[in-house]
Amino acid sequence: MENRAKNIRYIVVHCQAGHGTLASMQNFWKTSLGWKSPGYATWIDYDGTRHKLSDYNNPTNGVAGFNSQCLHMSYRGGVLQTDVKVAADTRTQAQKNAILLEIFDMMHWLKENGNDLQNVMIVGHYHFSDDKNHNGAIESWERIKECPSFDAYLEYKSIMLKENPLYAELKLPKNR
Ligand SMILES: [Zn+2]
Repeated sequence: MENRAKNIRYIVVHCQAGHGTLASMQNFWKTSLGWKSPGYATWIDYDGTRHKLSDYNNPTNGVAGFNSQCLHMSYRGGVLQTDVKVAADTRTQAQKNAILLEIFDMMHWLKENGNDLQNVMIVGHYHFSDDKNHNGAIESWERIKECPSFDAYLEYKSIMLKENPLYAELKLPKNR
């Protein structure tokens, strides 16, 4: 298979928008949505364990319309335990550490495969505009308006700034 690293423009951080098990989410993707690929390459549990769901070279279903340009990760949670309709930054310290490690792994893979990171941004799902040409399958189970329940662009900006001094001037994908 051709390597897709050079096409990657976005490292995208998601939240699960729920607290269910990995198995229940995977079952939902497969059974209810009929997806052949997972929603994310990596899913991060409360204790910081990074579950690799897909090789980085395979696109996953995180942002309809943009997946060929994205590497996706998600942390378990992102909504209140007591009310899953309320977005909340529920990241544990272990999850925060693991997200950083995952970002660095993704950057390493991109560099190793010929992407110089000059056009790569780290963003949250909500930074993408809604793609009217797609069926909105994602929106039905993950409320993308708030995903990942914190500002990933702001939080990880300094990482990409080191790689590309012009990063701060790059335009974010259009807001919803
Ligand atoms: Zn998302």
